[in-house]
Amino acid sequence: MSVMSSQYIKHETDVLIIGAGGAGMRAAIAAFDSGSSVTVLSKSLLGKAHTVMAEGGIAAALANVDPKDSWEVHFADTMEEGVYISNFRMAEILSKEAPERVRELEEYGALFDRTPEGTIMQRAFGAHTYRRLCHVGDRTGLEIIRTLEDQILHRDIKFFDEFYVTKLLKDGERVVGAIGIKLNTGDIHVFSSKAVIVSTGGCGRIYKVTSNSWESTGDGLGLAFEAGAELMDMEMIQFHPTGMVFPPGVKGLLVTEGVRGEGGILLNAQGERYMARYSPKKMELDARDIVARANYAEIMAGRGTAHGGVYLDITHRGADFIKRKLPSMYKQYMDFAGVDITKEKMEVAPTVHYQMGGIRVDPESTATNIPGLFASGEVASGLHGANRLGGNSLADILVFGKRSGEGASSYSKKISQGKIDDAAISAEIERVNSLVGRDGLNPYDLASRLEENMSENVGIIRNEENLRKALETIQELKDLSKKAAVHGGLKYNKGLLQVLELPSMLTAAEAIVRGAIERKESRGAHARSDYPKKDPAMRKNIIYTKGERGMRLEWREVPKIPDNLRKLIREEEY
Ligand SMILES: Cc1cc2nc3c(=O)[nH]c(=O)nc-3n(C[C@H](O)[C@H](O)[C@H](O)COP(=O)(O)OP(=O)(O)OC[C@H]3O[C@@H](n4cnc5c(N)ncnc54)[C@H](O)[C@@H]3O)c2cc1C
Repeated sequence: MSVMSSQYIKHETDVLIIGAGGAGMRAAIAAFDSGSSVTVLSKSLLGKAHTVMAEGGIAAALANVDPKDSWEVHFADTMEEGVYISNFRMAEILSKEAPERVRELEEYGALFDRTPEGTIMQRAFGAHTYRRLCHVGDRTGLEIIRTLEDQILHRDIKFFDEFYVTKLLKDGERVVGAIGIKLNTGDIHVFSSKAVIVSTGGCGRIYKVTSNSWESTGDGLGLAFEAGAELMDMEMIQFHPTGMVFPPGVKGLLVTEGVRGEGGILLNAQGERYMARYSPKKMELDARDIVARANYAEIMAGRGTAHGGVYLDITHRGADFIKRKLPSMYKQYMDFAGVDITKEKMEVAPTVHYQMGGIRVDPESTATNIPGLFASGEVASGLHGANRLGGNSLADILVFGKRSGEGASSYSKKISQGKIDDAAISAEIERVNSLVGRDGLNPYDLASRLEENMSENVGIIRNEENLRKALETIQELKDLSKKAAVHGGLKYNKGLLQVLELPSMLTAAEAIVRGAIERKESRGAHARSDYPKKDPAMRKNIIYTKGERGMRLEWREVPKIPDNLRKLIREEEY
C-alpha cells in the first residue's frame, strides 16, 4: 500500500529488508514464503550488490570430494579460525545447514562446477581441513545473486533499488520502519513495517586499500547503532593476503584465494617460497591472518616487488586449467594490468576484505536487542569471531539470511504496525534537505582523510600510539562532518550520498579503533606489536553501545560451549 503526502510517499509492509546482497535476497524469499508481505530496499541496482564480487566459493561440508568431511569438522574449523570468540551456536547452525542451502540453490537453478561423477565440485581453501568450497569457476557470487534474483522476480516482492535508507524509525523502543531517498528521483519514501531486517553488508570502504565495493560504507552499522542496537567484535577486520597492487587504480582489488586453492604459490622478490618459514605444514593454505601477515612481513623486510607486493604464481598449472578454473582472474590481470597469468606471476599484497564484527544477533532468529530489528549477512556478528574462514561468508548469508527472513516474518505475525511519529519524519526530511544547495565542507575530502587514517594507523599490525592517533583524527572528522554539504538537490546527487554515508563510516571506524585499543592482545585478525601474544583472559567479546556521553565498550563472556560440541574442537588454546 502506498500513500502520497506533499513531502513523502508512504508504504506499508510486514517485513522491510534493507539490502539486496545474498543475505537480503535470501531473507526476502524466506519471509515471503512464510506468508509475509515483503519490501526490499537497495542502495545499488538489483543484481549488482557487493555479493556479485564473491569469487572462490561457498563452504559446505557436502563431502563430495573428501568423503571424510562432515558438519562436525566444518564446525571445528570455524571455531578454531575464530580463535574461540565465535558464538558456538552460530557455528553449529552454519555447518549443519550450509549443505542444505547449497542444494537448495542448485534446485533454484545455480550451475556449480561438477566432479567427474556429476556431483558438486569442491575446492581447497585456507584453513579448511577438507576440500569444501562449492564454486562456479571464480564467479560464485555472481551465480548466487543471479539465482536468487530469479527467485525474487518470480514472487510478489516489492523492490526499490537505487534507494538509500537514512534512518530507522522507532515507536518507543521498537523499530517500526525506515525513511530514505530514491536516489534517481530525489523522492523521499517512508516505510511502515512490523519488522526490519538490516542486511547492508560490510564497511571495508572506510579503508583506502580494500577489496570491497562502493556500497560497503557500514550504513547498517550506523543505522542500527543509532537505533540502540549493540555491536560486537568490531575490532576484528580481516585483511585478505592477496589484493592487486598495480596499477594504482585497482590497488586492493581481490585476487581470490581460489588461486592458492588451485595450487598457486607465494614467492618474494628473491624467488623464495617464504611460506615454508611461516607455516611449513599448511604453506599458502594457512589461515588468512597468518598468510596476510607473512606477505606484509616480507614486504616490510625489503623482500617485496617494485610495486610493494609479493608474487603469486600459478603458471605451472598450465593455460587451459587456469582459464577454466580462474577465468575472472585471467581477465582481471589481462584487462587491468596487461599481465597474462598463464605465463607471468601476479603481484599481490594484503587488502582490507571483511568485517567479522557487526550487529549482535540471536543465533536462532537473527533478532537484535531492539524489538522489531533483525540483522543478517556481513553486517551481523558472532559467527566468525576473530577471523573468518574463506567461503564461510557465502554460507553465512544464505543460512542466516533465510533464518532472518523467517525470524522477522514470525515476529511480524504477532504484532500490528507501530506508530510512526510525524515529527521524526519531518525532522529527518529537514536534516536531509539541509545538506544540499549550499556551501559546506567537501564530503569526499573528509572520507578520503578517514580512509588514509584507517589504512595508516589501524592496519594489519596495530599499536597503541597509532591507534590513539587514529582516534584523535576520527574525533576531529566527526566534528567536521557536521559541516559537510553539497550543491544541487536531492535527485541523483552523488555528493549528497557521500555526506549521508559519512556518519556511519565514522561510527564503524570509531568502534574498530576503540575496540582495538581495548583489546590489549593479539588474537586472529587483530594483531598488536605491543601485545604480540594471545591473552586467555581476553577470550571474550567486546560489546559497543550508544551511551549518553558517546560510544560505550563492555567485555562480555563468550557463550559457554556445551560438552558435545567442545569435544569436536581439536586445539583448545584459548
Ligand atoms: C572481491 C570479493 C570476493 C569475495 N569472495 C568470497 C568467497 O569466495 N566466498 C565467501 O564466502 N565470501 C566472499 N567474499 C565475502 C562476501 O562476498 C561478502 O561478505 C558477502 O557477499 C556479503 O553479503 P551481504 O548480503 O551481507 O551484503 P552485500 O552483498 O554487501 O549487500 C549489501 C546490500 O545492502 C545495500 N545497502 C547498503 N547500505 C544501504 C543503505 N543505506 N540503504 C539501502 N541499501 C543499502 C547494498 O546496496 C547492497 O544491496 C568476497 C568479498 C569480496 C569483496
